[in-house]
Amino acid sequence: MEFIEVRNCYKVYKNGVTALADANLKITKGEFVFVIGPTASGKSTLLKLLYREEKPNKGNIYVGGVNVSKLRNSKVYKLRRKIGIVFQDFKLLPKLTVYENVAYPLESYGMKSSDIRKSVLKALERVGLKEKYRSFPHELSGGEQQRVCIARAIVNEPKLIICDEPTGNLDPDTSKEIMDVINAINKEMGATIVMATHDKEIVNRMKKRVVTIKDGVVVKDKMKGSYDNENIKNTKS
Ligand code: ADP
Ligand code: MG
Repeated sequence: MEFIEVRNCYKVYKNGVTALADANLKITKGEFVFVIGPTASGKSTLLKLLYREEKPNKGNIYVGGVNVSKLRNSKVYKLRRKIGIVFQDFKLLPKLTVYENVAYPLESYGMKSSDIRKSVLKALERVGLKEKYRSFPHELSGGEQQRVCIARAIVNEPKLIICDEPTGNLDPDTSKEIMDVINAINKEMGATIVMATHDKEIVNRMKKRVVTIKDGVVVKDKMKGSYDNENIKNTKS
């Protein structure tokens, strides 16, 4: 079995919207995968199934051999410890410092504070933000805030990092820097990256695997792929 397997997944939200219709996808450990597709094609929903923010109505999702779709609610926290998540809007806690924001996930583990300190500083160093550990989120640029989120996502060295439009709020230069950080994490930590994006420039420059979703179905899957406008045109509008 592959590290990630999405098998025949359907997701119909309570309002009747079908977000995924027989979605299938396999991802090997250590891969870097872009998920692209028109707005409302089901990209975020697919990612949400992986970290069990949503459950499929039908089908199964395996992450690291665990059937995430069958996981009891009381066990979800164990899954989340193995996954780092980065969003478009930074979701940092405004009253906590950079250090505290990154330390936050580790504090629930009952880890020794000296070990927490080591892990936090290591993560901040990896994203190039160690010297700002005492700053508050509002004192940082957008790119710096996203670096903090990435540090928070990698602080317990997860094998899987899920990014949902991580450069969506950033200018092109800053986006490039953020992608360099994510790419280094993939290469140096061996973390598997699954990233939804509609940033054409990034996808075309990085030459990674590109999975295209349209109307809740994987319609294209290409190694060293590019951003194919034909598949991105919004057929719903
Ligand atoms: P994408 O990330 O590709 O833009 P999403 O997965 O967010 O697409 O959404 C797919 C479809 O599901 C859209 O039509 C969206 O409106 C709908 N949808 C997403 N989340 C919910 C929700 N919580 N409740 C109802 N509909 C939703
Ligand atoms: Mg989305």
